[in-house]
Amino acid sequence: MKIQIHFFTALVGSVAIYFVTSGNLLASSLFFTSSFLIDADHALDYVLIYKRIDVLRMLKGHFYKDRIYVFLHSAEIPIIALLVWPGMYSAVFAAGYLLHLAMDVAEYPFRNPLLTYFLSYRLAVGFSKQKLCSKSDNVIF
Ligand SMILES: [Zn+2]
Repeated sequence: MKIQIHFFTALVGSVAIYFVTSGNLLASSLFFTSSFLIDADHALDYVLIYKRIDVLRMLKGHFYKDRIYVFLHSAEIPIIALLVWPGMYSAVFAAGYLLHLAMDVAEYPFRNPLLTYFLSYRLAVGFSKQKLCSKSDNVIF
């Protein structure tokens, strides 16, 4: 998913959360953070794959060769947050997080779209791009 689309949906969602929670800025910020900043893990992937930093290529995201890590694109994170820290803030955090993951699932050609967004599944297949993707093109998560 393009970063601009994630930014826009995170912004709209966080404004909605702000009004629904009667001006709770922390809840609004949590939603924005969890639905947008997940993509920061692409920068880590780029460094793990190429052993260098290239901000422009990192932002484009079309750089995956044979492994896809994206550690933050893991459904375990919001599930654990809800279990360990139940309440409104974890619910808002999980909602933003799952919105981001759902948008990615809807877009990319994975062999198993739902399981791909679990770190445990990616770990089980060795983070193999070939095992995760049904096509080898332009996966950017
Ligand atoms: Zn993403």
